[in-house]
Amino acid sequence: MMFYIRITMSLVVFSMVQVRLGNGHYELRPTKIICLLRSYAAHATELGNEVPGRPQFFLKPPSALVPNRSSIVVPPGVGRLHHEIELSVVISRKGRNISEDIAMDHVEIYLPMLDITARDLQDAAKSKGLPWSEAKGYDTFAPVGPEAVRSSDHDWRGKRIWLEVNGQIRQDSNTDMLLFSVERMISDISKVMTLEPGDIIMTGTPPGVGPLLPGDRIRAGIDGMEPMEFDVVRQ
Ligand code: MG
Repeated sequence: MMFYIRITMSLVVFSMVQVRLGNGHYELRPTKIICLLRSYAAHATELGNEVPGRPQFFLKPPSALVPNRSSIVVPPGVGRLHHEIELSVVISRKGRNISEDIAMDHVEIYLPMLDITARDLQDAAKSKGLPWSEAKGYDTFAPVGPEAVRSSDHDWRGKRIWLEVNGQIRQDSNTDMLLFSVERMISDISKVMTLEPGDIIMTGTPPGVGPLLPGDRIRAGIDGMEPMEFDVVRQ
């Protein structure tokens, strides 16, 4: 008896973004990306915001991740994009209600990332009391650096964090200027949501954020890791 089996394959495209880690690679597969806001006092005030008394955060979709040396895309009809260089932390193991004294046991690696923001959309959302998901969530709005470092080999404190556009320095600060420790961020976030292995915490940006235009070239980094490079294109 002859019969035919028809196999239908649904093609599922995952955004697979890898970073170099030691002699190998690490694949970023977060269930969520948690972004701190106003975590450097001088950045909070440069946008006319109050300095928060505790870590505050929003979510960015994992679909926004893009690997180093790719393009940041300006979506059609969207106004000003801003750059924000941020130290990012990848979670090693599941945890909830993590206390600060063991928070570092939950950190796998560090890497530099950009929190690309459609500032016009964000300003409009802020003025209407609406969420920021649109302003922060477009594809390509979470570019990652080429290289990560293990938490066991790297202290997040005391590191220069910088960003230049077309060779001109725009952001130049130090992670010592963070208002809250990484341990405090992990502890506070984990009181709200379970942190899963691979989840990313973006720790917020220092002052100097500014506009990006199609054709711009970005270089940015954090001491101890290879700098990231991106260009900006119009969709
Ligand atoms: Mg940010």
